[in-house]
Amino acid sequence: MAEIRIAKKLTQANDEVAKENRRKFGELGILAVNIMGSPGSGKTSMLEALAGRMQGTAIAVIEGDLETDRDARRIEKAGMKAVQITTGRACHLDAGMVRQGLEALDLRGIGLLAVENVGNLVCPAGYDLGEDMRIVVSSIAEGDDKAAKYPPMFARADIIVLNKMDLLPLVDFDMDGFAADARAVNPGAELFRISCKTGEGVSALAERLACARGGKAGKTVSAKPGAKRRR
Ligand code: MG
Ligand code: ZN
Repeated sequence: MAEIRIAKKLTQANDEVAKENRRKFGELGILAVNIMGSPGSGKTSMLEALAGRMQGTAIAVIEGDLETDRDARRIEKAGMKAVQITTGRACHLDAGMVRQGLEALDLRGIGLLAVENVGNLVCPAGYDLGEDMRIVVSSIAEGDDKAAKYPPMFARADIIVLNKMDLLPLVDFDMDGFAADARAVNPGAELFRISCKTGEGVSALAERLACARGGKAGKTVSAKPGAKRRR
């Protein structure tokens, strides 16, 4: 597995590189998902849980962390391709880092590219990576006020995942309050309640992603009439 250490700052404007990344995903028919959330919300665990339920879709993951390749190793163990980007002190991934990650991955046959952003509920929201979809992972353990306290992160999410549902009986968590805050910040976001530990809700999320991927691959096929994609 490749590990890319980010040493110097990118000069090309982020949005330009994001556009290039997006074009690449479009050409390859890959669904690119930017996964964000606090440290410990369960972003890596969610990917591990999804891997077993998306057998028809090959998944590659770009892992962003300040240090260590621990998450990329977990991802590989779960049967996915992985590249680790260690950012040193940077608290988010930018489009250039993702481009470097893409260069280190063999993307042939990949249907879903997941970018696991650096654990942080603030600045990753401000960087377009070229993704098709944004998923914010929050968890029961973090408390019910995160959507209200960190609105920019939740406002631009396509999917909000509430993880660690198995902890619900053990803690005070206002489910209706969390859902209401999420709706107020982002009325269009879909909410999935999951537990990576018990598997609750993970299949529904996997189906949602497989469906989005199917739609994107379909677009690629229809752009080339007569060329039928074989899986
Ligand atoms: Mg992680
Ligand atoms: Zn940052």
